[in-house]
Amino acid sequence: MNLASHAVFDGPGLPLRIASTAIPDPGPGHALVRILLATVCGSDLHTLDGRREAPCPCILGHEAVGVVEAIGPGRDPAWLGKRVTWTLADSCGACRPCTEWDLPQKCERLLKYGHAPMNDAGMLSGCYSTHILLRPGTTLCEVPAGVPDALAAPANCALATAIAVVESLPPPGTHAVVQGGGMVGCMVAALLHVAGWPRVTVIEPLMARHDMARRCGATPLAPAGADDHLPASGADVVVETAGVPTVIPQGLRLLRPGGHYAWAGMVHPASRVDLTGEQVIRKCLTIRGTHNYAPRHLAMAMDFLRAHGRRLGMESDISAPLSLRDLPRAIDLARAGRHARVSIRP
Ligand SMILES: [Zn+2]
Ligand SMILES: [Zn+2]
Repeated sequence: MNLASHAVFDGPGLPLRIASTAIPDPGPGHALVRILLATVCGSDLHTLDGRREAPCPCILGHEAVGVVEAIGPGRDPAWLGKRVTWTLADSCGACRPCTEWDLPQKCERLLKYGHAPMNDAGMLSGCYSTHILLRPGTTLCEVPAGVPDALAAPANCALATAIAVVESLPPPGTHAVVQGGGMVGCMVAALLHVAGWPRVTVIEPLMARHDMARRCGATPLAPAGADDHLPASGADVVVETAGVPTVIPQGLRLLRPGGHYAWAGMVHPASRVDLTGEQVIRKCLTIRGTHNYAPRHLAMAMDFLRAHGRRLGMESDISAPLSLRDLPRAIDLARAGRHARVSIRP
C-alpha cells in the first residue's frame, strides 16, 4: 500500500503534526497529483495565527506544482505524467455564480484546497503533503517547459489573483499605484507594466522588497512621503494588495477624480476601513473588490510566465526548498518576510 505524508493543522497555537494516509484510487473526475514544490502563502500564516478561521483538522497549503500520477474515469488520460498547477478551488459548473455571474470562485458547492476539513474533503486536500487528490470541478493547467517549479508554485494564488484584479481595471492610463510590494503587489505591477501603463509605483514599507518591485517594472517608494513623490494630478488607478486597512486613506488621497480603487489584499475580518461616503462620491470613485479568480486566469498566468517569467528573475525571491518535516521552520521564515515565498519540497 502506498502512503502519502502530510502536515496536519489542529488549530491555532497547536504544533503541526506529520501524519500518513493510504493513497486512494482516484474516483470519477479526480486526479491524483504528486507534489513537487509547495509555497507558504500569507493566508496560511493568517490561519496558523487564528486571524482567519479554518476547519480543523485540515491540511494547509494551496500553492503548488506537481505531476499527475493517476486519474479517475472521466478525466482525459493525456494528463498522466504532466507537470501541472490547478485552481485553488473546485466549482460545480451548474450554479448561478458558475453559470450567470462569471464568479466560479464563489460556486455554491466550492471546496478550497488547503482550507477544507479532512473529514469532508478526504485526507488529501492540501498542498503541505506528498500528494493531493483533486476533485472533478478542478481545472488543471500544464506548466510550460522552462518555467521553474519555484515560479509556477505560487502562480495559482498570487499571479492568477493579480490577473483577475488587473482584468477588472480600466484600460492603461498614465499612472498606476500599487499598495503593497509582496507577491500579489509585484505581480500586479508586472502585469500593469506589460499592459502598457507608462508609470507604475509600488508603495511598500519593507525596503527588502523594493528590488523585486523594480524588476517588475515599477518604481518602489516607502509609504512615508510617497505623496510628495507622486504627480499632483493623481493616480488613475490604485490597487490595494497590502492587506492592512491603514493604507486606505493614502490610496483615496492619491486617486484622481474618477479614479478606480481595486481592493485585493484585505481578506480578513480586521479590515475595517476609515472612509466617508463623501470622499467616494465627491471624487466620483469606483471601488472594486476581487477575491480569487476564475480558471481562465490561471491559464493566463501560465502564458504570462512562459512569456515573461525569466525576465522577472523571481526565482531569487523564493527560498531554497525545505522538507515537510521542516514546515515549522519554513513558517517562521515566511513570517520573517525576507522571501516573497518560502518553498517546501514534500
Ligand atoms: Zn495563497
Ligand atoms: Zn457552482
